[in-house]
Amino acid sequence: MLNASLKQLALQLAARKISSIELTEIFLERIKTLNKDLNAFITVNEEMSLDQARAADKMISSGQVQPLTGIPVAQKDIFCAKGWLTTCGSKMLSNFVSPYDATIIERFNQAGAVILGKTNMDEFAMGSSNETSYYGPVKNPWDISAVPGGSSGGSACAVAARMAPAATATDTGGSIRQPAALCGISGIKPTYGLVSRYGMIAFASSLDQAGPMAKSAEDLALLMNVMAGFDARDSTSMQRQTEDYSRDLEKPLDRLRIGLPKEYFAKGMNHDVASAVEAAIAEYRKLGATIVEVSLPNTKLSIPVYYVLAPAEASSNLSRFDGVRYGYRAPHYSDLEDMYKKTRAQGFGAEVKRRILIGTYVLSHGYYDAYYLQAQKLRRLIANDFTEAFKQCDVIMGPTTPAVAFDFGEKSDDPIQMYLSDIYTSATNLAGLPGMSIPVGFGDKNRPVGLHIVGNYFREAQMLNIAHQYQQVTDWHLRAPERLPVA
Ligand code: GLN
Repeated sequence: MLNASLKQLALQLAARKISSIELTEIFLERIKTLNKDLNAFITVNEEMSLDQARAADKMISSGQVQPLTGIPVAQKDIFCAKGWLTTCGSKMLSNFVSPYDATIIERFNQAGAVILGKTNMDEFAMGSSNETSYYGPVKNPWDISAVPGGSSGGSACAVAARMAPAATATDTGGSIRQPAALCGISGIKPTYGLVSRYGMIAFASSLDQAGPMAKSAEDLALLMNVMAGFDARDSTSMQRQTEDYSRDLEKPLDRLRIGLPKEYFAKGMNHDVASAVEAAIAEYRKLGATIVEVSLPNTKLSIPVYYVLAPAEASSNLSRFDGVRYGYRAPHYSDLEDMYKKTRAQGFGAEVKRRILIGTYVLSHGYYDAYYLQAQKLRRLIANDFTEAFKQCDVIMGPTTPAVAFDFGEKSDDPIQMYLSDIYTSATNLAGLPGMSIPVGFGDKNRPVGLHIVGNYFREAQMLNIAHQYQQVTDWHLRAPERLPVA
């Protein structure tokens, strides 16, 4: 059961070989055994999960079955879920029980899926290692001295350690793909606007996008079918026809043109990552794809541009946490202003404060033109590079990260080094493009390596097809960390 695909689980449930209650209990049990070491979940609420499982079993017996009915899914703690503690990895929201559901939670509930728990994450999704969580770091299940990546490290760890069949995540600069790569699982960040941001706690609104994490591309397609869709409550939600993201999974790849950006393969990538990525590309050649060289000359600017724009938006989004309406409030203060100050000083961690300071600075009078406006212009150039590249190819491939998972503490004192973890991923957020990561082998210290696949706007079905075809001829996505017991 722990290694089963979502399709296999759905078949078992439909055939009544197992009930949703039993399935949910298996995963809750697994969480009980592993979570004290791995720290992937902030909140588990057996009663609430089992109530949903019971309702799903009723749906199944009355024949109202959808593909995910009865299947437990771990939810990143950035999504508001009614009645659930929703912390966003912060002390600021450590007492916040959400009175409403995010749209994606609503959609999973309507699909009959079970909320398995809320997963740990970097505070307000700011980080690449999960070390900024108020709830302590998540461990990489392949090697507990390594970080799981971030900010969706809890979700990635939960799937990799088989504590959940699938999970949700969010990606502002790489937070779905980088932890997926570091934990050896599959994850997709959809085109900006495809998945509703309503009820998803905002970090940088023009970059934030939710997406699924799972073992395989086939599973991701089923999750996308639930998550994607227009939502009138999100003003940036795209009004488009709904799609079946599984529809193209079986298409052959003989007409596929893969673009390899010459800048990615020039320098900066570690040897072990390069060889796993090159082996994956060789596999794609065998599947019939042709390789073309493309150029993304402005991608090198994406980290500096991202670290102007994301903090600018964050400084504005996080101004709502003031101790007045909800969340943490400092226990002792003299007047209103003192209450604001103490609440924010005590409620936010160091990385969040750093971003608020940077963001406030780049938006301030006299610096706005020099930083914020300039970064917006470069953002356009970065996006234009992709438009040019997609004239020559269907997808762009490269490594998801420059290196395999690093050790705890290795980068936490050096923000620049930490920020560089997203060197290959953040350009796609700036451009609004979809990107995914799939496991393609192991590098140094036997830690997983991810292949990054970037598609053109709204080409998620094609990207999932490309990933699925690779997963039909390889088995990296089926491997689980051996040190963990797999029943
Ligand atoms: N690591 C990046 C950051 O710290 C991206 C995080 C994300 O995608 N949420 O901002």
